[in-house]
Order: sequence, then C-alpha cells, then structure tokens
Amino acid sequence: MLQGVIPGRMMQRPLLVSSLIEYGKDFHPNSEIVSRRVEGDLHRYTYAAAYRRVCQLAHGLVALGVTPGTRVATLAWNNHRHFELYYAIQGIGAVCHTVNPRLPVDQFKYVLNHADDRVLFTDLTFVPLLEARRADLPPGMKIVVMTDRAHMPESGLPDLFCFEELLAGQAEHYDWPEFDENTACALCYTSGTTGNPKGALYSHRSMVLHSLFARNADLPCFTPRAKFLPVVPLFHVNAWGLPYLAPLSGAGMVMPGPGLDGPSLFKLMDDEAVSSAWGVPTVWLGLLAEMAQQGRKPKALAHVLVGGSAVPPSMLRTFQETYGISVVHGWGMTEMSPVGSLGILEPEMEALPQEEQLRLKAYQGRRMFGVDLKIVDEDGARLPHDGEAIGELAVRGPCVVDGYFNDEPASAAAIDDEGWFRTGDVASISPDGFLMIVDRTKDLVKSGGEWISSIDLENAAMAHPEIAECAVIAAAHPKWDERPLLIVVPAAGADLAKEAVIDFLTARVAKWWLPDDVVFVDELPHGATGKVSKLTLRAQFKDYVLPTA
Ligand code: ADP
Repeated sequence: MLQGVIPGRMMQRPLLVSSLIEYGKDFHPNSEIVSRRVEGDLHRYTYAAAYRRVCQLAHGLVALGVTPGTRVATLAWNNHRHFELYYAIQGIGAVCHTVNPRLPVDQFKYVLNHADDRVLFTDLTFVPLLEARRADLPPGMKIVVMTDRAHMPESGLPDLFCFEELLAGQAEHYDWPEFDENTACALCYTSGTTGNPKGALYSHRSMVLHSLFARNADLPCFTPRAKFLPVVPLFHVNAWGLPYLAPLSGAGMVMPGPGLDGPSLFKLMDDEAVSSAWGVPTVWLGLLAEMAQQGRKPKALAHVLVGGSAVPPSMLRTFQETYGISVVHGWGMTEMSPVGSLGILEPEMEALPQEEQLRLKAYQGRRMFGVDLKIVDEDGARLPHDGEAIGELAVRGPCVVDGYFNDEPASAAAIDDEGWFRTGDVASISPDGFLMIVDRTKDLVKSGGEWISSIDLENAAMAHPEIAECAVIAAAHPKWDERPLLIVVPAAGADLAKEAVIDFLTARVAKWWLPDDVVFVDELPHGATGKVSKLTLRAQFKDYVLPTA
C-alpha cells in the first residue's frame, strides 16, 4: 500500500457480462443478428428479440439443473443460438466452455473431462461426431441439440434434449443474479506444445473490460450502423470478443454458420451489407478468390480485421489497393481474451506514402489499452523497444490469464518472476510501439488458425522402427499459412520412403495433422543441451517449398 493515499468514494458495482446484453437490448433494440442456420435457411431477429430468448434459455438451463459454476460446453458454429448460449450460461453464473470441434480425438476427450462439463449443446452437424465418441464423454453429461423438434435427429445418444423445447413456454424476463465480478464466465482451451490443452478461464470482469478496451481501440467500425461478420469461430477465444462488442456498440451481427467458403461468404456479405469482417488469413484467401472472380468486393465491405497469423503483405495490398478495403492487423492469444495489439495508424502515419503505410500495417500493430508488453532476453532481462532488439514477448493486464484452469505445472511455467505471462512469441518492438513477431519459442505449427503440436507429431513418428530421430517444423504455405514439415534421420540400414512414413502416421494422428512433406537427412542440428535446435532447422528450411504449396 502506498503511504498517504486515501480511499475513493465510489460504488463497488460488479462488472458482469449480463450488463452487456441488457445494454444492447435497451439502447440498440432494433440492431439485427442474421444467421445462416445449420438447417439451411437464414434466421434474423433484433437484439430485443435475442434478449427475450436469452432469458428463456437461462430459465431452461436452470430447469436442466445448471447451477452457478457448472461448466456447460458448446459445440457449434457461429449462429444465433450459440450467441444466446454465451449470455444465458454466463448470465446465471455458469461457465460457457466453447469446444473446438476440430480437436483431435484424445484432446476432445481431455477437454470435456478436464472441464467436467455437465451439459453439452451441439449443432446438428456434430451429432455424428458425438455418437462416434460416446465413450469419451463425461458420464451423465446431458446433450442438447441446437434445433427444433422437427429437425431432431434419430440418435442413440442418451440424455438428449431439444434446444427449442428447452426455451418453449419459459418467461421472457430473467432477474440476472449479482455476484463477484471475478467469477468465471467462460473457458477456452488452447493447445499445449506437448500433451494436454490448457484452459484459459475468463472472468466477468476480464470480459467486460476486454469489450470496453477493444471498443475504445479506435477500430474504424463500431457504430450502430455497422454490420459485423465474425468468420473467427465463437468456439475460438470468444470470436475475438465480437459477441460482446457488438451489443455494446449496437453493431449488427451476421453469422455465417457452416458456410465459410469464399462464394458463401461473399454472397452473405453482399446480401446483408456486411461492413466489417474478422478472421484468419486463410479464410480471406477464399474470399479474395471469389472477389477476383466477380471483379468486385461485397458491396458494403469496408474493413477487415486479420489476426491469428501474420497477414501476408500481398494480401494487405490486394484488400487495400484493389478493393479499397482497410485492413487492421491484430495480434493476440487465447490467454489474452484475446486482443493484444492492433494495427491502427495515427493520423500522421496515415499521411505517409502508401508504401510506408503498408509496411507499418504488416507489423502486428501497437498494444491495446490495458495490455502491457515487454521483451526479454534468455535471462529474463528487459530489452529496449528500439525496433532492433529481439526477445521473448511477455504481457500483463486485467484481461491476461494469471495461470490455467486446474493445471498448476502449466500455470507455473507460463508466468515469469515479475508476474507477466510468457507468450512464447519472439518479437521486437519499435520506439513508436509497433510489435513485430519474428518467431515462436513454442513448438507448434499454426495451420489455418488451428494448432498442431510438433512434439506430438514427432512422438508419433518416432514410434516407427526405421526412424532414428526426427523433428517437425512449420513450413510456409500459401493457403494454410503454415503446414508441418517432417525431417527424418532414418535408422541405420533403413530403406524408408515418404509414403511409408505418411501411411504410418495416418493411423496415429488426425488427418489434418499429417505432414505435407517428409525430408530425409543424415543428421539434425543439436544445441548445447543435446536438444534438436529448431531455430537452426527453421533457418535451414526457411525457403523450403512444400509440394502442396
Ligand atoms: P488466436 O488464433 O486468436 O490469435 P491462439 O491463442 O490460438 O489465438 O494463438 C495465439 C498465437 O498465434 C500467438 O501467440 C502467435 O504465435 C500467433 N499469432 C496470433 N496473431 C498473430 C499475428 N498477427 N501474427 C503472427 N502470429 C500471430
């Protein structure tokens, strides 16, 4: 405590997620949410109508036995029902655990059981997946299919409920409880370099603050006249905060459901006059191809927020110069709620020549209010923000995790001696605050926004009797941004072919994890401690062209 300070005289009102949707329905009741439903058609309603259904759903959850603290999983696309679940679950003090349907089988099983989910809400699409993985589900977990009675599937899954029946007849008002703002509201797992995923457990306070900070970040798009399309999934770090930001600012939302290919996105954006869309570079390739085909942009599209991976300069240029769409490049992490930095230029930067502006926009942006950045050397000593020194990036702030959900070893490894979160990214920071991510210490490959663990892949490959040693690194790919490249030292006398290695792995890892190429070498570079030096390998294969590229 600082000597001499005196306490302020302001109320301690908790910052709760329920206040965001209440504000949206009170002040922007007529802004719309439009969704491409799994059933095929478009659904549209206003924030006022959404709010009434959120209340009904909250009553339905209570009737199902959900109580404060209960973990409720969702396995769903971006659609209005998923949006309703965010607010109903969190509003009653339960925890919304968004599950990535693309998780490999063992990780899927792990996250549901580690979170101890009691109820799971699923889109129709994922019912077959749940049937196939029935034995992996936590015992006694109830499953609610996000559809109406007419579309309920024939299924042998036990404890199956219908979403619309859960709401039917429930009161359209809910007295949202008040509780400590540090209460958990949402849970999202992120891939670890090895082994199990780690859970970022957000609080009501962090979620409301993240919404306010991002709303305040001078993004050119938050007005009640805007229409947002989150391509980034609601199952991936809260769709970068959009489901909270939109009601707060009155912006409409257009939810693409399962239609994420270029032509579907183009048509939906065009028909619904979407003004701003958010997603990883991979999805924009599809949209840009469709724009080239049609010779125009979706009519109202003015802004694109690109993050999750570095935006390629060529993509920046096409959006901006060919179509006049302004790009904001963002960097963040699941552990940061997720926004860390945004490429928003100051007025004097916007006066710079176009080339110079493009160069600045290709960096990962400048820190958002509420996020502190530092770069450190191997001993943890701070490095200057001079645009030259390169070090490991660490962050702190009220929307940054201070550890992981029920995972002490991972928590201890993530936080440094000063209490900052270690990002596993390697960066420099310029004097005017631009972050430049140059590498990553975490041993992961990021393919189309999704993580692949190099170490898990290496372990799977090492089970092959004719592989003496191997390493997986990320190789550049024009569509997926990165794809795994497997580098193998064959055992003495072995006669190994690429196809045999891929066949071997096919039985052991998810299909989308399979390396795009296998390269055979006589030896791998090793560091002082005997570990394979991925840094050297990455440098050696910097210009490697994958056969799939
Ligand atoms: P998200 O995909 O929403 O960013 P994740 O937690 O899955 O969240 O991934 C975070 C990591 O992704 C970062 O630590 C960094 O390695 C990488 N990343 C995110 N945005 C960028 C970016 N703009 N440029 C380079 N890498 C990025």
